[in-house]
Amino acid sequence: MTSEGMLRCPICKKERAWKDNPFRPFCSERCRLIDLGQWAGERYRIPGERPPTGDDSGEEKK
Ligand SMILES: [Zn+2]
Repeated sequence: MTSEGMLRCPICKKERAWKDNPFRPFCSERCRLIDLGQWAGERYRIPGERPPTGDDSGEEKK
């Protein structure tokens, strides 16, 4: 039996019910924002979590 009404979030791969979910196809606003960040050319940036690598020292090149 398949999980009807469930949608796998493309960001975190968790299955969530998309019904009554305003953020679909994402599971939450957080994942939606992550996806938007990717579109904006940002690296994976998860609020409240640190990036996996520390290659960005915070200095900005102009
Ligand atoms: Zn998600």
